[in-house]
Amino acid sequence: MRLDKYLSHAGVGTRKEVKQLIRKKHVRVNGELVVKDDMHVEEDDLVQLDGEHIYYEPFVYLMLNKPSGVICATQDSEHETVLDCFDVMLPKGCFPVGRLDMDTEGLVLISNDGKLAHHLLSPKHHVRKTYYVEHQLCLDETAIKTLCNGSIILDEKTVLCAALEVINETSCFFHIEEGRYHQIKRMFSAVGNEVLYLKRVAMGPLRLDDHLEVGEWRALTQEELAALK
Ligand code: URA
Repeated sequence: MRLDKYLSHAGVGTRKEVKQLIRKKHVRVNGELVVKDDMHVEEDDLVQLDGEHIYYEPFVYLMLNKPSGVICATQDSEHETVLDCFDVMLPKGCFPVGRLDMDTEGLVLISNDGKLAHHLLSPKHHVRKTYYVEHQLCLDETAIKTLCNGSIILDEKTVLCAALEVINETSCFFHIEEGRYHQIKRMFSAVGNEVLYLKRVAMGPLRLDDHLEVGEWRALTQEELAALK
């Protein structure tokens, strides 16, 4: 592929920015200074920017602790999107894997790997999502039973809480395997309760890193990625 494409896919900058860097002699390929941005490079060539090895990563996998007020989309004319939370240039084609409501916080995986996204989002795979929920009223035995026995119908489909861990009178961990619009809020509403705060803490084996403040992100580790695939 072209050198400028390689560098911009690796997140170094836009095509225009990397062309400038190449012309200003910041880039070496296999030790040789390069000034032509259309030079052909292979994935295993040693590409360096000011001496730093720039790896070609066809796919990126990033975990974001989504803040409230930000939407899970790639662009929006009104609101900040999850992609705006990144202080680095993301490679082309990155998107949030699954959606959280605008006021929901917590784990969002950002990637450009459509195959992994399909695997995680397909209802066939029953990937479990875990949420920390703060709710208005105490959950009594009847409400817990209703939430967990599959008797709630949303969009003409039954939904259920796959596991519910009560923390105290007004908070719990709530595990679901579907991903319907406003699912948890609507399920609580179905039992006469109300969600006051919602945060996703896990998606399948991937857990939100406790060290990430709201709005912060980091790349997945090799182990986290291997567990997801
Ligand atoms: N359920 C909801 O109601 N909202 C979310 O953002 C996620 C699950």
